[in-house]
Amino acid sequence: MTFKDFDFEPQLLDGLEAMGYDKPTPIQEQAIPLILQNKDLIACAQTGTGKTAAYVLPILDKIAKSDHRHINTLIIAPTRELAQQIDQQVDGLGYFVGASSISVYGGGSGQAWDQQKKAIEEGTDIIIATPGRLIAMFTSAGAVDMSHLKHLILDEADRMLDMGFNDDIMRILTFLPATRQTLMFSATMPPKIRTLAKAILKNPEQINIAISKPAEGILQLAYMAYDTQKLALLKHVLTEKEHDSVIIFASTKEKVKDLGRELQRSGFSIKAFHSDLEQNEREDIMRAFKNKEVKILMGTDILSRGIDVDGISLVVNYDVPPDPEDYIHRIGRTARADKTGTAITFINPKDQRSFFDIENLIGVEITKLPLLEKLGEAPLYQPQIKTKKSFEKKPFHPKRRKK
Ligand code: AMP
Repeated sequence: MTFKDFDFEPQLLDGLEAMGYDKPTPIQEQAIPLILQNKDLIACAQTGTGKTAAYVLPILDKIAKSDHRHINTLIIAPTRELAQQIDQQVDGLGYFVGASSISVYGGGSGQAWDQQKKAIEEGTDIIIATPGRLIAMFTSAGAVDMSHLKHLILDEADRMLDMGFNDDIMRILTFLPATRQTLMFSATMPPKIRTLAKAILKNPEQINIAISKPAEGILQLAYMAYDTQKLALLKHVLTEKEHDSVIIFASTKEKVKDLGRELQRSGFSIKAFHSDLEQNEREDIMRAFKNKEVKILMGTDILSRGIDVDGISLVVNYDVPPDPEDYIHRIGRTARADKTGTAITFINPKDQRSFFDIENLIGVEITKLPLLEKLGEAPLYQPQIKTKKSFEKKPFHPKRRKK
């Protein structure tokens, strides 16, 4: 199948060529025809599957056929980083369509707010927004005319609910026309997502692309290590091979800051990315990382979804993520679009049960490498031996458990 099979407008095909997309990904193959037929849709798909273009392309095609006079599409995303990335894809793919878009998110300057507001009042084809700022926009002086809206898209709906945006989403709906096409994308499909889907979608089609499997090109490795051994191990992993771009995940923002400082002191080109930074600081860090001025980015799980940077060859999990799905999101930052990459996880004795859950979810036993001798003796990997804590823990996905 090629993009020509969708009968897209020539300007959109030009955008696809400029972006270097040759053929649709599976989610695009399935979602694009349904969206072109104006169906409501609930799609279970993770970042990295091409889900953004799966809804951006058919919408741009419809905009290309429209008169561009009204706000046509509203895309709601949980974080400003994701909103910015969606905006970049809209810009790139929609360049020749002449579609206009504006992203609306909190944290910027007063000037940014004025610009966003002006653009919306003057009319734009697509608004990409985080929930809180959008409500502020709707409720501030100066009416936003949403009466011609054709499409509402909720991206990473599960993350929005996790972040407590359910009421905000319901409130936003009150500003929108009831007759519209609604699309929901979510990496996971817990019951609360199904409830939301029931409330806001009409006879939706369903697509499920969440294979819960990391990309083929990722070499997954792990070390058993005590917490006291992890820093030296990290320095070893970062220096044993040359890497252009590396992401390190740790469990808490304090750890991210401490480790970032420690590695900076040791001469590594590293920046810590966390929620205490101002938005412009976050943007500067992300830009420097994308431009390869900074080699290593360190963060918590806020980095694991939606960060779309090419050429990341190594992902290090300094701690095991407690939720196996987060593991897949984290290591999905490497080996994007047919490239290869390595993901290395440090497992302390307390986290072995969580790691075992990850291995069960992805159906692969991940190779545990021997620790360097100079770091001392490593703990053994014995996830089935129940520590008090793991005994108390509820099993994850019991149906998928092999034993
Ligand atoms: P997403 O899942 O939307 O975060 O997209 C993941 C990455 O794949 C982004 O860098 C997109 O630009 C890229 N991408 C999306 N669709 C295609 C395609 N059909 N061919 C090549 N790259 C794509």
